[in-house]
Amino acid sequence: MNRDVGLSRLAGEQFDVVVIGGGATGLGAAVDAGSRGYRTALIEAADFGSATSSRSTKLVHGGVRYLEQGNVGLVREALRERSTLLRNAPHLIHDLAFVVPAYRRFDLAFYAVGLKVYDALAGRTEFPRSHVVSPADARTLIPALAPNGLRGAVVYHDGQFDDARLALALARTAVDHGAAVANYVRATGFFYDSAGRVTGVDAVDAESGAQLTVRARAVINATGIFADTMRTLDDPAARPLLAHSRGSHIVVSSAALGSAAALLVPKTSDGRVLFALPWHERTIVGTTDVPVDAPERDPKPSADEIAYLLATVNRYLEAPLAQRDILAVFAGLRPLIRRGATSTARLSREHLVDVSRSGIVTIAGGKWTTYRKMAQDAVDAAARSAGLGASPSRTVSLPLHGAQHDTPDNVLLREYGTDAANVLQLVAADATLATRLDPRLPYTEAQVVYAVRAEMARTVEDVLARRTRALVLDAGAARAAGPRVAALMSAELGRRVTPPPGTPP
Ligand SMILES: Cc1cc2nc3c(=O)[nH]c(=O)nc-3n(C[C@H](O)[C@H](O)[C@H](O)COP(=O)(O)OP(=O)(O)OC[C@H]3O[C@@H](n4cnc5c(N)ncnc54)[C@H](O)[C@@H]3O)c2cc1C
Repeated sequence: MNRDVGLSRLAGEQFDVVVIGGGATGLGAAVDAGSRGYRTALIEAADFGSATSSRSTKLVHGGVRYLEQGNVGLVREALRERSTLLRNAPHLIHDLAFVVPAYRRFDLAFYAVGLKVYDALAGRTEFPRSHVVSPADARTLIPALAPNGLRGAVVYHDGQFDDARLALALARTAVDHGAAVANYVRATGFFYDSAGRVTGVDAVDAESGAQLTVRARAVINATGIFADTMRTLDDPAARPLLAHSRGSHIVVSSAALGSAAALLVPKTSDGRVLFALPWHERTIVGTTDVPVDAPERDPKPSADEIAYLLATVNRYLEAPLAQRDILAVFAGLRPLIRRGATSTARLSREHLVDVSRSGIVTIAGGKWTTYRKMAQDAVDAAARSAGLGASPSRTVSLPLHGAQHDTPDNVLLREYGTDAANVLQLVAADATLATRLDPRLPYTEAQVVYAVRAEMARTVEDVLARRTRALVLDAGAARAAGPRVAALMSAELGRRVTPPPGTPP
């Protein structure tokens, strides 16, 4: 995947579909459109997945909370997508056991029945069915669980994934299917034919400052929390479709749970659920739900949210966690559909497709888990709106870039799938690239070089936050690795790359 190739194609070709936004939804739309045979382009203002799509709780799930709310249709759809994703990207998704502890007998029965319904909605699936376990077995699964008064637990299964790596796999799949793709290209406006129909996007290359025009018969606005901003560029009177809510996470050591299973806190003080999840040899605890007025690119957890996360999970742990145990924090903004939002085609309670008078298709809301279905709905609407020749979606059975079902030899490179061999080849050619970026991190210099050569990494943050997940696993260690990553990237790109502020010289 090469940015220069993407840029020159964007400026030079006539496309059927241009997608604005390289998060889960936009990348999914580019994969969908490209694999249908449409000439497809995608531009992303910053890095792939850098907004909401790399800041999720990293679950591919039906959502037990939605079940509690009685949203059966949504849960069924998401569970179907869970299986589809496991089939198409086995290198990026895996099964995870969740332990739901119960300290009252009634709760145990209630959770057991609820999760049987969850199993039933999943239908035939690769994920194991739920079952009740004794207090002793619950503590074998999660040794850190508070033992006092524990009556038992229900164990159920869902999917877990690496969100930024899946975003990248989608970008590469889109390119594999002929799409022209570039990061750090921002859409700044639209242009129209004499009848007022949109015929393309004005954009700027954030690296060079150069303006470019991307000509396309259909335009898909998949800019997530920024979707209303784009809509008002088309129609200043457009009524907002979205509201935003922040969800925060803390990351602590894997010893916090001491297990390969996750903990689900079934009821928090604000009536939600909370997860403590093993992930990349750490534990992620999240999340919160704080309404925010305006979209922002790099939201941060507040001190109150961090205190709430610690206090809530501590109620279930034998040895409480403290502020000093926190290795990193991250937050994302949910693009939520406003109550009463009108649209030309409201497709589910969770996501919507809106087609403007000029023909721009906006796809918004939803979940990572349902990105494929959202993408399909958006491309269907774009094809109808622009009169593209009918071509059905193929993504239900389309393997994503790197897909492989075998367990890889090098587990640290599992998420590269078939590309792991290419990373190892770099080390075979230059053994110094096997050097770790930091003793506290599992990443090597070879992954930095590969990120630049094959994964369109342009900044140190691209590498530390998304090509690797160093910034999520251990912010201090990631900062320490910054200068070395910058040096490797400078050599690869032939220009000076600087580490982000706050990294040691
Ligand atoms: C805290 C939290 C936890 C979550 N956990 C889960 C979970 O566990 N499982 C799950 O299924 N879902 C989860 N979700 C939901 C999921 O993360 C989102 O639904 C999904 O990532 C949204 O993707 P998107 O592509 O629509 O938006 P985004 O990822 O925000 O992508 C939009 C992109 O558009 C780009 N853009 C904006 N303006 C322009 C422009 N002018 N030109 C070009 N590009 C532009 C942005 O830079 C951005 O990259 C969670 C969400 C949050 C906030």
